[in-house]
Amino acid sequence: MRGIAILGSTGSIGKQAIEVIALHPDRFFVTALTAHKNAALLFEQVRALRPALAALTGVEGEVKIPEDLGFCEFRFGRKALEDIAAQAPGQDVLAAVVGVAGLKAVMAARKAGKRVLLANKETLVAGGEMVMNACPEGTLLPVDSEHSAIFQCLQGAGPNRFEQILLTASGGPFRTWDKEKIKSATVAQALGHPTWSMGAKITVDSASMFNKALEIIEAKWLFHARPEQIQVVVHPQSIVHSAVKFRDGAVIAQLGAPDMKVPILYAMSYPERLKTGGREMDLFQVGTLTFEKPDEEKFPALRMAYEALRQGGAACCVLNAANEEACYAFLKEKIPFGRIPQIVADTLQKHGSLPAKNLSDIDRADALARETARSLM
Ligand code: NAD
Ligand code: MG
Repeated sequence: MRGIAILGSTGSIGKQAIEVIALHPDRFFVTALTAHKNAALLFEQVRALRPALAALTGVEGEVKIPEDLGFCEFRFGRKALEDIAAQAPGQDVLAAVVGVAGLKAVMAARKAGKRVLLANKETLVAGGEMVMNACPEGTLLPVDSEHSAIFQCLQGAGPNRFEQILLTASGGPFRTWDKEKIKSATVAQALGHPTWSMGAKITVDSASMFNKALEIIEAKWLFHARPEQIQVVVHPQSIVHSAVKFRDGAVIAQLGAPDMKVPILYAMSYPERLKTGGREMDLFQVGTLTFEKPDEEKFPALRMAYEALRQGGAACCVLNAANEEACYAFLKEKIPFGRIPQIVADTLQKHGSLPAKNLSDIDRADALARETARSLM
C-alpha cells in the first residue's frame, strides 16, 4: 500500500488522480488533500477519502468545517501547502497545484524524504537546478504526459543514452491560424483545446505554446538533456506522447489515447502498470498520424525557452513568472493574447541574468519578474 498526499486535489490532475486511486483501493490510500479555495469540493473529497490532513491554501484564517469531518485535521493559508507536503503520512506527494506556488512544497516534500510525483511543471522550470539537486534518482517521477512518455521510452534503454528527445505538441487551437489573427484571439477561443481537457492556465499556455516552452525546460532537467537535444514536433492527433532517438537511428515512442490517467497512474505504480479505467486507443480509428515542424514565428515562446536555458541562472524562473502574470491577465481580459509573448520577452530582457542558486534567489527573481510583467501591461 502506498500513501499519497495530493496537493491540488480539486484541479484537473487532482480529480483524475482520485479517480484512479479509487480503482485500486488495495494499492493506494490518500493521506492528505489540498485545495486553494474550493472548500465545498475539498470537503466532499475529505468525506469520501478520509485523509488525516487537509488544507485550504488560498484561505487565510479559519473556515467552518462540517461536523462530520472531525477525523481530519484542517490547515489554512499558503504555508499549509509546504507543511502538508512534509508532514502527510505515507511515501508519496503528488504535486498537482498550478504555478510556482508548488516549488516550496516540492522542496519540503523532498526534505522530508517523500517521493514526488510531479505534474506541477512550473516548479521545475523555476527551480530546475535546485530541485534536481534535491531529487536523487527515483525520487522525482514525471506526470506530465510527454515527460512520462519519455520516461517510459527510456525503460528499455539499458546503458544507452538517447541522442535526441522528440517532444510532441498538439499545436493547440491556433496551429492553423495566421500570426495576426492569433494576436487578437479571445479567451473562449484560447480555452478551446482540440485534444486535452485541462485547467485554465495550462490550456492558455497550450494555445500560446508557452506550455511547450515550459516542457522543453522541464525535459532538460528531468532527463539531463542539452537544449539542442530537444526537438519539438507538432503532432495534432496527440497519440504519440513523445519519443526518444538513439545513436543507431532507432526511435522509440509511446502511444496512447490522450488521457492523463495513464501518466498519473504510471507515476504512482511505477514500474508496474495498472488498469486506468480509461478509453483505449484504437489505431484503426486513429488512422493517420501527422507531424509538422513548429512555427517559431507564430509561437515565439519556443525560441524563448531555448534562450532562457542557454542563459541559465534565473532566466527560466523569470520566463515562468512573466508568463504566469501574462496568462492570468489575459484570462481576466486585461491584455490581448498577442501581448503574452511580448511581456515575457521584455521581462526576460530585464531580469534574465539574475542568479538562481537557492530559494531566496529564486523568490527574488520571481517577484521582480512579476512586478515588471505587471508594469508592462
Ligand atoms: P487546475 O487549475 O485544474 O488545478 C489546480 C489545483 O491547484 C486546484 O486544486 C487548485 O485549488 C490548486 N491551486 C491553484 N492555485 C494554487 C496556489 N496558488 N497554491 C496552492 N494550490 C493552488 O490545474 P491542472 O490543469 O490540474 O494543472 C495542475 C498542474 O499540472 C499544472 O502545473 C499543469 O501545468 C500540470 N499539468 C496538467 C495537465 C492536465 O491535463 N491538466 C497535464 C500536464 C501537466
Ligand atoms: Mg504536457
